[in-house]
Amino acid sequence: MLKLDFHPAGRHFLQIPGPSPVPDRILRAMSYPTIDHRGPEFGALGLQVLAGIKKIFKTEQPVVIYPASGTGAWEAALTNTLSAGDHVLMVETGHFATLWKKMAEALGLQPEFLGLPGIEGWRRGVQPEAIEQRLRQDSGHQIKAVCVVHNETSTGVTSDIAAVRRAIDAAGHPALLLVDTISGLASADYRHDEWGVDVTVSGSQKGLMLPPGISFNAVSKKALEASKHSRLPKAFWGWTEIIEMNASGYWPYTPNTNLLYGLSEALDMILGEGLDNVFARHQRLAAACRAAVNAWGLQIQCADPAVYSPVLTGVMTPAGFDADAIRKTIYENFNMSLGTGLGKMKGRMFRIGHLGEANELTLMATLAGCEMGLQQAGVKLAGSGVAAAMQQLMAQQHEQQLRKIA
Ligand SMILES: *Cc1c(COP(=O)(O)O)cnc(C)c1O
Repeated sequence: MLKLDFHPAGRHFLQIPGPSPVPDRILRAMSYPTIDHRGPEFGALGLQVLAGIKKIFKTEQPVVIYPASGTGAWEAALTNTLSAGDHVLMVETGHFATLWKKMAEALGLQPEFLGLPGIEGWRRGVQPEAIEQRLRQDSGHQIKAVCVVHNETSTGVTSDIAAVRRAIDAAGHPALLLVDTISGLASADYRHDEWGVDVTVSGSQKGLMLPPGISFNAVSKKALEASKHSRLPKAFWGWTEIIEMNASGYWPYTPNTNLLYGLSEALDMILGEGLDNVFARHQRLAAACRAAVNAWGLQIQCADPAVYSPVLTGVMTPAGFDADAIRKTIYENFNMSLGTGLGKMKGRMFRIGHLGEANELTLMATLAGCEMGLQQAGVKLAGSGVAAAMQQLMAQQHEQQLRKIA
């Protein structure tokens, strides 16, 4: 057993934007005994989760499940579709976009990084016009893929993927569209087929409410076709063999059996609540969280209200206040973890996760912890964010009741 030198009472508040809290239902489902991954029960489980996960991605195409973190599924998306030296167009929306670009370089691709100066690009979504313009210049079709992050977890900005698809089509360009929705899936509206995405990358430990350890590639027909000609080396990540064996509910190697029990339970929970209700709940909580930040008089990292993330809110700390010191105070005094500022935002912001298992009262407790911690750190607040968030939540409920009557 991991030995901790203290044991605080009550639950730890894991309010980072992933891993998100794992519901008891899912933990219990994962505690079933591990079974033979070549046996008959396993095939039934495999078929069930492979069918269910398609509903979450909103696709009729194959979804490949890897026993790996999201980073593995990033690599799978690139190695299955591209060849050494290929040009790819990526967009600097934040830290995760930057890491994906570094991976592309490491794999021998030639990424071009579209971005705005300083932290400007870290405060707004992907600019589809910039993508369209760049693709129009590429008359020789050197660019083989456009890679974008749907929900930038480092900043709290959600990009408009349908608009990126329209930009590629408007330029008449054949590049594949690869999208990371590792933190967006099952929290923010996402439509793999309708938006014409070729490969969607996701992971288990964010909106799906599972522990880290499995990740996904949803694959279009065009991407599958590209995989037949792509020459980047792939063995573990190769789609072909996995998709073949998935037809009967099995994998070429040992899959993550207990996490798949958890996935089955998560699918029941999410589809039982209804995807649209899940998305609406995230939007309501995010709006209440922003009401709190505004009432504190602090800046929200996302500078464009049209692309506020429903998954997390980035809070910029005033000059002279180290965001990580505030996070430390909150951790020590209130047993709550908040997300750190990543990359360019190190020390300048903290991130409040409100995804997955989140509800009104978990959000209120989270905001109370933030408000107390900010005050203890000496930050001058303009007003009570907790009070503003409560008002916002009550107004939302009032509105919902009126809608029911009408
Ligand atoms: C969490 C995350 C990743 C990395 O996933 P790992 O599971 O840590 O490998 C990549 N992109 C985004 C947008 C993420 O939120």
